[in-house]
Amino acid sequence: MLIDSHCHLFYDRIYDRIDEVLANAKSMGVDYFLSAGVNSQTMLKNIEIAEKYNNVVCAVGIHPCEYKNGYNVDEMKTLVQEHPRIVAIGEVGLEYFYDDTPRNLQWKLFEEMLQLAQDVNLPLILHLRESLNDDLFAILKHFNLPAVFHCFTDTLESAKRAVNDGYYISFSGIVTFKKSEDLRKVAKYVPDDRILVETDAPYLTPEPKRKIRVNEPGFVKYVADCVAEQRDCTLEYLAEITTNNFFKLFTKAKEEFGLR
Ligand SMILES: [Zn+2]
Repeated sequence: MLIDSHCHLFYDRIYDRIDEVLANAKSMGVDYFLSAGVNSQTMLKNIEIAEKYNNVVCAVGIHPCEYKNGYNVDEMKTLVQEHPRIVAIGEVGLEYFYDDTPRNLQWKLFEEMLQLAQDVNLPLILHLRESLNDDLFAILKHFNLPAVFHCFTDTLESAKRAVNDGYYISFSGIVTFKKSEDLRKVAKYVPDDRILVETDAPYLTPEPKRKIRVNEPGFVKYVADCVAEQRDCTLEYLAEITTNNFFKLFTKAKEEFGLR
């Protein structure tokens, strides 16, 4: 059993054929999904999906590139209290590659999201791109919340630092790309009890399906295949450890899925 720990089921490209997409996933051995939030505009739709489908939970969060589209932290807090299928705050973080949101504003938003996670006692899904520096690790340490570094693309040194500080590391389809030699070394390194896999669908279709423009949660199987190969373990073993880690991090999810 595989879990896609990070996808976006509310985007039209997936939502318009969501039943088919989830059935495809099931046929590939992918049974459970966490649909991560990105902005206020799609938040309610994402929650609705998680409430409709037994095997989907969700997160609410404002992506750093969505700062300009506005948000209301009090409203988000109320939503978390009213909707138990929200199991995390995310994705939130710092995006230094696409620099369209000034960094001071990204930091303001990020601190508000960290405070929200602390207030509602939920783990974090972190979007951190080219922003893994001393300031980042310091503020995470200050808040001291369970978190995953989603769609990890940074260096082995940064991965070691994240692992030493107690965080989870999640790999997306990027790990399957031909040019991702260094990232595959990171996938080999991350300890068994800290690793997760995801699609980030509809983005980042993994090899060997890269020609298909719209990624699907079922394709997390290809990510898992690639990571298992790096670690010299079976797909079954990788599925087992990543599933265990998912439930350790997102502690509310097991009950929401109706699992014991
Ligand atoms: Zn995402």
